[in-house]
Amino acid sequence: MDNIWFDIKEQLKSSLPAHAYNTWFEPINLIGHSNNELVLEVPNQFFYEWIESHYKNQITKTAETITGQSLDVKYTVSLERKLTLETSEATHQSKKAIKDKPNLNKRYTFSNFIEGSNNQFARAAALSVSKSPGLHSFNPLLIYGGVGLGKTHLLHAIGNYILDEKETAKIIIASSEKFTLDFISSIQKNKTIDFSKSYRKADVLLIDDIQFFQKKEQTQEQFFHTFNDLYQHGKQIVMTSDRLPSEMSGLTDRLLSRFESGLVVDVQPPDFETRVAILMEKAEQNGLDLPYDMVEFMATHIKSSVRELESTIIRLLAYSSLSNCDIDFNLVKKVVLERLGNGAPIDISTTDIVKRVAEATKINEKEIVGSSRKRPIAEARQISIYLCREIMGSSLMEIGMNFGGRDHTTILHACRNIENKIKSDKRISYLVRSLQQDLTFSLI
Ligand code: ADP
Ligand code: MG
Repeated sequence: MDNIWFDIKEQLKSSLPAHAYNTWFEPINLIGHSNNELVLEVPNQFFYEWIESHYKNQITKTAETITGQSLDVKYTVSLERKLTLETSEATHQSKKAIKDKPNLNKRYTFSNFIEGSNNQFARAAALSVSKSPGLHSFNPLLIYGGVGLGKTHLLHAIGNYILDEKETAKIIIASSEKFTLDFISSIQKNKTIDFSKSYRKADVLLIDDIQFFQKKEQTQEQFFHTFNDLYQHGKQIVMTSDRLPSEMSGLTDRLLSRFESGLVVDVQPPDFETRVAILMEKAEQNGLDLPYDMVEFMATHIKSSVRELESTIIRLLAYSSLSNCDIDFNLVKKVVLERLGNGAPIDISTTDIVKRVAEATKINEKEIVGSSRKRPIAEARQISIYLCREIMGSSLMEIGMNFGGRDHTTILHACRNIENKIKSDKRISYLVRSLQQDLTFSLI
């Protein structure tokens, strides 16, 4: 039976790019085979969906070639299988242990958290709390910062670290939403005492995204008591938030002062060097060997968050396996450009745009940036202005400067005017769309 799968894999290996094969086929196991069925085990649901939508035919055809008969390919998701096995075999006690296990993501650790000047302090504080939870003034520790910058990662890393050091440590990790939902459901079931007890059992309480406590007074009240109880018993509390407590609205004063009573640290967007390091690390994790110039290109343009960097790598992998092509500079550019959307701050200048508009409208470049109010000229000007805003994401002032020192309200008016015309005037809409496409593609 294993032989069949081995043969199928060999065949797929020779017909797919190496990284596509490694990503999608290496992790699959054959768990059953009959005359008309092949049952494959995949690591997760996403995997299953990806394989089904992209490789279904290829798998069935290969299987058919090898076995000489048509086979139905079925999948099972391995995590589910393991879990059902575990729970059905587990004794009562170990069942309880499973239930009590904190919901920690094992992949979020300190060792794979890349340090840069943007997160150094937050990482150091988190590590220090992990080494001696509850034992110093970093209690509570609050990590705040924008989305996708590693707050949740650090929170889980703390939990994982403590659990590694001390298996019996009671760690409770929850988002503030989960805390709220648990609380509400305890009210509905008349079990508020159980609720308080369960959270107060913690040695370490990790609460993600406390901004969701805003305006929920009853929940805040509950959290306040849980917090105090734990704090008085020297238990460690760590929280994350997308903003400073003082910037949260609808937070009771006493909770605010609790939040601010320990150490508050921020995570900032990664700088260029850190972005490069993150991309290299994520590429390596995915078995991708990216040349430096490609990494540099990505790090130059994708700036907002680590999550964005991560998903750029994943899209790159997905694209290349989908279209059966190797990853080269063009593909990298394409993916980056797509992620940036229209506001791409990329190598294109006002001059390029005006030039293209001039070609398309047969109106002289000088006239476009000049002062004539003749209708076709004014229209070409407005289109150019609109494109500068859409493609380069330039500010109104900046565009104004480049178009003969026009006022920013004039620029805004031009953008609005074209936006409206795109909706109502087919000719303009077509012209603008094709110019936009041309210009964007000329970047690739
Ligand atoms: P946040 O909670 O701040 O919105 P996350 O912790 O969910 O962000 O991070 C988003 C993704 O980026 C996660 O997959 C995380 O592992 C990754 N990530 C964030 N910061 C780093 C870092 N410094 N090093 C490695 N991976 C990181
Ligand atoms: Mg988060």
